[in-house]
Amino acid sequence: IFSNELILHYQPKLDLTSGQIIGVEALARWQHPKHGLLFPKDFIPLAEETGMIKQLTIQVLKIALSECEKWYKAKLNLPVSVNISTINLQDPEFPEQVADVLKNFDFPSSILELEVTETAVMTEPLQAIETITKLSNMGIQISIDDFGTGYSSMALLKKLLVAKIKIDKSFITDMQKNSSDAIIVRAAIELGHNLGFKVVAEGVENQEVWNHLKGLGCDSAQGYFMSHPLPPDKLMEWMQQSQLKRRN
Ligand code: C2E
Ligand code: CA
Ligand code: CA
Repeated sequence: IFSNELILHYQPKLDLTSGQIIGVEALARWQHPKHGLLFPKDFIPLAEETGMIKQLTIQVLKIALSECEKWYKAKLNLPVSVNISTINLQDPEFPEQVADVLKNFDFPSSILELEVTETAVMTEPLQAIETITKLSNMGIQISIDDFGTGYSSMALLKKLLVAKIKIDKSFITDMQKNSSDAIIVRAAIELGHNLGFKVVAEGVENQEVWNHLKGLGCDSAQGYFMSHPLPPDKLMEWMQQSQLKRRN
């Protein structure tokens, strides 16, 4: 991937009580000269197999920070989250590399979030705890992504210095129709809160699911119902429009 072909789309994350935007998730896209816009499933697995993912993650982080730095300088205090791979989590040099990147931007580490999947944490839990602890001590917020699809134990979750869990969209999307999904979501929210984490739901595709999650006390939500992932300029437009809507 040539670095000028790697771009980011941003999906807003909203507070379920206030409806306010509380952050954005950066999602990688490959603007391929021949094949058009490629999605992560078309290039992340290959990048992981070849080890290219280490450079890719750093590249994504740099793009995200340079775009968010502009917004931050324009007085928009918008937290951004970047997805990291299992391979990054197992790389003892990763936290230092992140620190080096952060030094080059006028962007506080307290509004940078890194998302690691539950499965990635479980791959080598001891190394994961160490990496997460280091990143967390740098002031970065860590989220456990795709929560419910891995097999983490409560004993391990307690040891992780994480701020949030993100319930996997496979449980959220159909929770209105599927009662076992709804039960899992309810339990995950309760577990997350009891362990002191904020709980995010991903894959919210309609008003009913939004209302249901709000009723269950979930903290925030992300999904096509609110917005698809958007290029930076479109995200700014979306934010202006959603602010207008709230005032009306
Ligand atoms: P993820 O981190 O779980 O990201 C959420 C995915 O769900 C995104 O797909 C997003 O577009 C999609 N999504 C958002 N709202 C909805 C909804 O309401 N319904 C449904 N069905 N889907 C929704 P995307 O962008 O294709 O990314 C797929 C995965 O690729 C991500 O899953 C993440 O694991 C990985 N990924 C994306 N960017 C990066 C990156 O920069 N680095 C790494 N290592 N992985 C990345
Ligand atoms: Ca994610
Ligand atoms: Ca996810």
